[in-house]
Amino acid sequence: MFNRISTHPMRYADFPTLVEAVDYAAQGSAGMNFYDRRNQLKAELKYRDLKLMAMAGARRLLSLNLKKGDRVAIIAETSVCFVEAFFACQYAGLVAVPLAIPMGVGQRESYTAKLQGLLSSCKPSAIISSNEWLSLINVANDNAPGIHILSTEDFRTLAEIDIKLQLPSPDDIAYLQYTSGSTRFPRGVIITHREIMSNLQAISHDGIKLRDGDRCISWLPFYHDMGLVGFLLTPVATQLSVDYLSTQDFAMRPMQWLKLISKNRCTISVAPPFGYNLCLRRANDKELAELDLSCWRVAGVGAEPISAEQLNQFGEYFSKVNFDSKAFMPCYGLAENALAVSFGEEASGPLVNKVDRNILENQGRAVAPTKDTQAISTFVNCGKALPGHLIEIRNELGVPQPECEIGHIYISGPSLMSGYFQDLASQKEIQTTGWMDTGDLGYLLNGYLYVTGRIKDLIIIRGRNIWPQDIEYIAEQEPEIHSGDAIAFVTSQERIVLQIQCRVSGEERRAQIVHSLYARIQSEFGVSVDIELLPPHSIPRTSSGKPARAEAKKRYLTAFANQLSPQLGMVDCVQ
Ligand code: ATP
Ligand code: MG
Repeated sequence: MFNRISTHPMRYADFPTLVEAVDYAAQGSAGMNFYDRRNQLKAELKYRDLKLMAMAGARRLLSLNLKKGDRVAIIAETSVCFVEAFFACQYAGLVAVPLAIPMGVGQRESYTAKLQGLLSSCKPSAIISSNEWLSLINVANDNAPGIHILSTEDFRTLAEIDIKLQLPSPDDIAYLQYTSGSTRFPRGVIITHREIMSNLQAISHDGIKLRDGDRCISWLPFYHDMGLVGFLLTPVATQLSVDYLSTQDFAMRPMQWLKLISKNRCTISVAPPFGYNLCLRRANDKELAELDLSCWRVAGVGAEPISAEQLNQFGEYFSKVNFDSKAFMPCYGLAENALAVSFGEEASGPLVNKVDRNILENQGRAVAPTKDTQAISTFVNCGKALPGHLIEIRNELGVPQPECEIGHIYISGPSLMSGYFQDLASQKEIQTTGWMDTGDLGYLLNGYLYVTGRIKDLIIIRGRNIWPQDIEYIAEQEPEIHSGDAIAFVTSQERIVLQIQCRVSGEERRAQIVHSLYARIQSEFGVSVDIELLPPHSIPRTSSGKPARAEAKKRYLTAFANQLSPQLGMVDCVQ
């Protein structure tokens, strides 16, 4: 375990490339600490060792006769080997491509199919993986000729060639980042050194506002932008130490995250809302007694719609162990912008804007409630665009909208991707316009961004826009239904489907839940919904844990077409 010792002044990622960022970090004493599920330190990696290991790894990879710009897929476990291989690619001028690992035991088959899609998209020259996934990789790779499939050990025992490593230039591609796959098959985002360094500077200096002496901690996967950029590249580029728990260990025992924060006096961590919710659900008074969260200065939250109510519940519960809700820092970002677009203000906690829901749904405007307002929607302030970055709200025709009008969130600036890999149209579009439609909807108020949802998830019924999260929220108020257990979408026949995963088995109680939700949704929204109660783990999620509504809808329609719906336990509520 080590903290940064200030032998060199802290620098806020102001390096031309990731290689120069590592070179500078290597002059200090900070580094990474990997913890096991009992919060025991299992491996350390000082940045000074990382530099040497990455340079040696680069020489070994180049012995395979790989050429500048060739892709190296790395199965992204939370391990020293992943970090070593990722930075070896940077020193070698190769393009690192972090890929997901299967998250559940029953997911091997669908994982192999997904991996196949990813490999045919990025066409790597080499794949590096721990032994555990090699058999799956061999199946997914389907004997594609010429690809070097390397176990961790193979990678470490390749012969080094004796060459002088060339420094990458800022416009070289550093890595491909696959999007999460919430709305479609993941797409490979091209990120150059210049783009990633701009985002790292803005995140560290203007967004989170890191300080000398900060200590970061994360359980986010390295294949997701929030884990890779936020908690692998940011600490390296700011010479700060970081503690890691694996995502699987966090999922099994979420409280280990908070325990490690408390034990190591960590100051910075970011997670999607479900990470905070999991802790709230699992915490008990005995565990609470071991915690002191007064050190937690920035508790970032993003990647999904943020519920102020849930953050407040977390804040209230953990205030008993000195968690300060002002540490909450909502943020908005996407892989296409390396990671971050905007951050809430420092030490302000979650700020909200309440709007009249009828006006929002029918007129697409965010208007403060009045005494005539029947229902309110609450949105969390996600901050202003980072310096040098721009956000515009535009209508369907691409015309910029005034404040408080809901529209497409467009982004521009120095962190914007160069386009999707092997998609010349997207590359040209970005090159010529400098802007990108994020696919998200939202509005600006006093320059602050409020994200209302994704265009693809919007439920449009007779010209009226209903946000799926509003319907899901109603379901989640039932005692047996937790946050994240409900998913709502609309079919092309304008039928709204609400699927709920739960453990309730009694027929009577199941029918009661369905009828009470049906009535509540009917009275609050004036629409009918088909409600399905599904077994636990039925709702599809992306590899980073987000609800995949498009996949849920696809499965529903397939089951419907196959007339499997009755077997799924569907209760069609027709009054
Ligand atoms: P795909 O693009 O493959 O469908 P994805 O969009 O989930 O997947 P990411 O780039 O990992 O892939 O996630 C970015 C998206 O996450 C944003 O476009 C937005 O929809 C959502 N998001 C991020 N931050 C917030 C936030 N603060 N509030 C609401 N949604 C957010
Ligand atoms: Mg996206």
